[in-house]
Amino acid sequence: DSQLNPHYTFESYIEGDCNRVARRAGKTVSEKPGGTSFNPLVIYGSVGLGKTHLAQAIGNEVKRVHPTKAVLYVSAEKFINQFIDHSKNSIINDFIHFYQLIDVLIVDDIQFFARAEKTQDAFFAIFNHLHQSGKQLILTSDKPPKDLDGLQERLLSRFRWGLSADMQMPDFETRMEILEMKMRNDGLEMPKEVVKYVAYNIQSNVRELEGALISLLAQSSLNRKEIDLELAKRVLKSFVKTSSKEITIESIQKMVCEYFDVPYDKLLQKTRKREIVQARQITMYLAKSFTKNSLKTIGEHFGGRDHTTVIHSCQTVKDLMDTDNTFRDSVIELQQKVQLAAM
Ligand code: ADP
Ligand code: MG
Repeated sequence: DSQLNPHYTFESYIEGDCNRVARRAGKTVSEKPGGTSFNPLVIYGSVGLGKTHLAQAIGNEVKRVHPTKAVLYVSAEKFINQFIDHSKNSIINDFIHFYQLIDVLIVDDIQFFARAEKTQDAFFAIFNHLHQSGKQLILTSDKPPKDLDGLQERLLSRFRWGLSADMQMPDFETRMEILEMKMRNDGLEMPKEVVKYVAYNIQSNVRELEGALISLLAQSSLNRKEIDLELAKRVLKSFVKTSSKEITIESIQKMVCEYFDVPYDKLLQKTRKREIVQARQITMYLAKSFTKNSLKTIGEHFGGRDHTTVIHSCQTVKDLMDTDNTFRDSVIELQQKVQLAAM
């Protein structure tokens, strides 16, 4: 028994910038286990971002494509416990031999090996044997291998033989896709604005994104009520961290800075660099349309500019939106972000 959960597949694993390298490497490895330079394949990233899902998807795909290969998924914790049981009974060699017969070995959460010296010795022997025999190793970890304190250097240096791929939190669009897929799979429907609200507000990890969906479902069946924005806001209170959701000049400034990757202080200073000037003009324009602040107040929030500068900025943005498609798309996207943030 490979200990794999059959639901964790590539089909149910949405690709985004957040996981593209890891997912593609995983796909390659599952087609040619042990036959690529991605050995070991180390997948790392913080909790709830999909490491276990991807590692298991690789295992399931190997079993599908190569039905005769022996695939085994094991968490590092279980591996340690098995090792301890075997050492109590003085049958460590049985333990090592068992693992040396595997074709594709997946060890999840190897950070738990930290300071388990004897287990690391056994794993080292298993790793070497498998690697030398052209067998595939797939490891996951909550940090990059170089930051794995308490792991023996000889293990870490072997982890560098292959490929280490990181995972990030999916961006808004990818979160939408994940939610839409989960809803499709569960035969669930809810208004687009609710999906957007959930995708926008859950920024911690994918597990929480799923948790939010489950809570919504539970509440809606409990109250015999369709899922709507009002319900979503109530249910998601415990998930959504931002306390004040009021749109302010500051909150728009932060959003624009993040969007264009412009430092906050640059936005306020008199820098004349084109990107920064444009970011500043867009911010003024958004502040004018989304807040009730006067032109004077808006100007003051940009290092003390006067109201005519604000008028000029708003006009420039309107003109550019008519003539420059890329510019218009950026402004529209930002408008949507501001709207979402205020929901
Ligand atoms: P980790 O092992 O990194 O803590 P998991 O693999 O357990 O995270 O993922 C948490 C949940 O999120 C799982 O239910 C998983 O199916 C889901 N998930 C994570 N990333 C994706 C993705 N890209 N597409 C679909 N579901 C995902
Ligand atoms: Mg996991």
